[in-house]
Amino acid sequence: MKVIDDKQQEALDSGTLLPIMEEFYTIQGEGLQSGKAAYFVRIGGCDVGCHWCDVKESWDPSMHPLSVVSLIVKNALKYPARVVVVTGGEPAMYNLNYFTDSFVENGFKTFIETSGAYALTGTWSWVCLSPKKTGPPIQENYGLADELKIIVHNKNDLAWAEENAKHVGDNCKLYIQPEWSKRKQVMPFMVDYVLENPKWNISLQTHKYMGIP
Ligand code: SF4
Repeated sequence: MKVIDDKQQEALDSGTLLPIMEEFYTIQGEGLQSGKAAYFVRIGGCDVGCHWCDVKESWDPSMHPLSVVSLIVKNALKYPARVVVVTGGEPAMYNLNYFTDSFVENGFKTFIETSGAYALTGTWSWVCLSPKKTGPPIQENYGLADELKIIVHNKNDLAWAEENAKHVGDNCKLYIQPEWSKRKQVMPFMVDYVLENPKWNISLQTHKYMGIP
């Protein structure tokens, strides 16, 4: 585990440095924006603790190198798409104002995927709120959501989906998405649910079917 010095802590607090697990150019696989080319930035650190999490290696921020945000922008500019998707981990644990300012200045749309457990900083073109039972969203984040995405691991998650849908705005898109390891078991009742409750849409992790990151 790496210990950070005062200078690094200051840069982390101001958002010019962030612990980055990975950054890559790919196609957004999930939700309303699926199919779009985008530069993905996965920020390390999450304390929400979903037992089915498929990126547990992201949880400990000290395992990920502190990266200079201006360099991340430079890396993203090597590719033609002008969309950056920030995911984690739980990216809202960090001050993201500098990050989004830097990307917006360079002509990018900024998308984020967050559990909503922390107050959101930064300027976002698209907020995907994906609430988790172990760390539910703070109330103010519901109003920021362009898309509500509930991961379905078992039938009880449909009640959780409805509970969360009560708090988002009228224009928020509603998605339920099978948890990957349980997709065969949950898909039949999810299909029935959307047929009965058409305000909901099914989101699939299409990048996994495409065999891309
Ligand atoms: Fe994993 Fe996301 Fe849950 Fe954090 S919020 S434990 S990264 S699924």
